[in-house]
Amino acid sequence: MKKQQPLEAVIGLEIHVQLKTASKMFCACANVLGDAPPNTSVCPICLGHPGTLPVLNREAVQKGIALALAFGSGIASKMRFDRKNYFYPDLPKGYQISQFDRPLAKDGSLTLALEGVMRTFSLERLHLEEDAGKNFHRSDATLVDFNRAGVPLAEIVTKPDFRSPSEARAFLQELRLIARYVGASDADMEKGQLRCDANISLRPVGDETLYPKIEVKNLNSFRSVERALAYESKRQAELWHQGKPPAQQETRGWDEGKGETILQRTKEGSDDYRYFPEPDLPPIDISKKDIELIEKAIPELPQAKRARFILEYELKHSETDVLVADKDVADYFEAVVSELKAWLFDSGQVEEGTHDEIWKRSRRKITKLAVSWLTTELFKHLNAEGKAITESPVTPENMAEFIVLVYEGKVNSSAAQTILDVMYREGKDPSDIAEDRKLFQTSDASGLAEFIKQAITENPDQAEQYRVGKEPVLQFLVGKVMKLSGGRADPAVVAKLLKKELRP
Ligand SMILES: [Zn+2]
Repeated sequence: MKKQQPLEAVIGLEIHVQLKTASKMFCACANVLGDAPPNTSVCPICLGHPGTLPVLNREAVQKGIALALAFGSGIASKMRFDRKNYFYPDLPKGYQISQFDRPLAKDGSLTLALEGVMRTFSLERLHLEEDAGKNFHRSDATLVDFNRAGVPLAEIVTKPDFRSPSEARAFLQELRLIARYVGASDADMEKGQLRCDANISLRPVGDETLYPKIEVKNLNSFRSVERALAYESKRQAELWHQGKPPAQQETRGWDEGKGETILQRTKEGSDDYRYFPEPDLPPIDISKKDIELIEKAIPELPQAKRARFILEYELKHSETDVLVADKDVADYFEAVVSELKAWLFDSGQVEEGTHDEIWKRSRRKITKLAVSWLTTELFKHLNAEGKAITESPVTPENMAEFIVLVYEGKVNSSAAQTILDVMYREGKDPSDIAEDRKLFQTSDASGLAEFIKQAITENPDQAEQYRVGKEPVLQFLVGKVMKLSGGRADPAVVAKLLKKELRP
């Protein structure tokens, strides 16, 4: 049998991002993003009545520019809208207002560290267009909801730079995060705010040719993007190994249930949409000053934030990923840490050194505690109620005060859980809660002596076993003392005192 040649995947993406604007792209209808009863956010313009004129939404252009700038794309000084002509029931005008040869932005890229390797993915272009309505197929009829017709979209076309399905997925996930950071879109795939078509072809490793690509349409989750591409990759590899690789372009659909792609149509040439300049919208000048203003308002982007968190707070990659995945969580964390820093410098108990030196000595222990209590216990409470961090009843100030109690060893971890629980439910100050509920850790020997005696008297067999050398029994006795102390004792101190008592 002929040795099989190694193949590599060549993948490109076309991504539609619904822009989060107050109104639609060319009319005053509210951009309801699917949250309203059918056909309640419509008007003669977005319904395509004859004689109506589109008016460009400035906010949509600004959000499109912000998104493009986040990828370092070049913004056009002059852009133009074109009509893309085709017939479909969800397109009331019989054409879509899109951009053809004068898009809003060109080029740009995103570099991601994937499994320790830096990979750069380039953008071909970003253009603006209007969304179509939405068809609902029933057994007896197809219904159309035009609320979505005219909603502003940014379409991003990448270069075929992805070499595996997981790279495509990672890019899309980062794109979602960037869209949220710049406020361009909530980019929720489940709600159709972020939609993706992927094209894939294979080629022998080392061959630079681009072979006919297979386009997979309407992938509506990150998982289906990865699964559909993995399926196509395997299917096409089999064709290559049989000596009959795809000879022409195809469009395929993804069947999530069956886990396979289905042929929809083959493409002989390129589709002819008879694009022509939109006569009702003049070409638009974009001034350098406008671009600068938008650029200034772009916050620190996720990649930069991750790098800074690692450097500034000595965090691990896994920790920064969790924090940076939500800008509000990252902001909350920084607010907590800034309080902790102030406490560290002002508490008076700190060793000598400049603030910088003190911080560098203590930061890992402090930030580790902050990340851990934030992303496990506080998240647990928030998730249980479906709340965002911005709705947390525990303020960053109180959270910092709480972390200080744990950092100083004034409360043990089970007491700390109780305190945070009460903070969350009753919004009280952590020290007051610890005081009221007698949760401060007891480590003074005289206070504990009574509990130790009691534990030994009540468990004579175990005490004897430890006396004669059975080590593991000590933990059992420590547990008894902890219970007697109401969880306030420091387990390490208890163990020490028990040893002293039983094996003097
Ligand atoms: Zn309208």
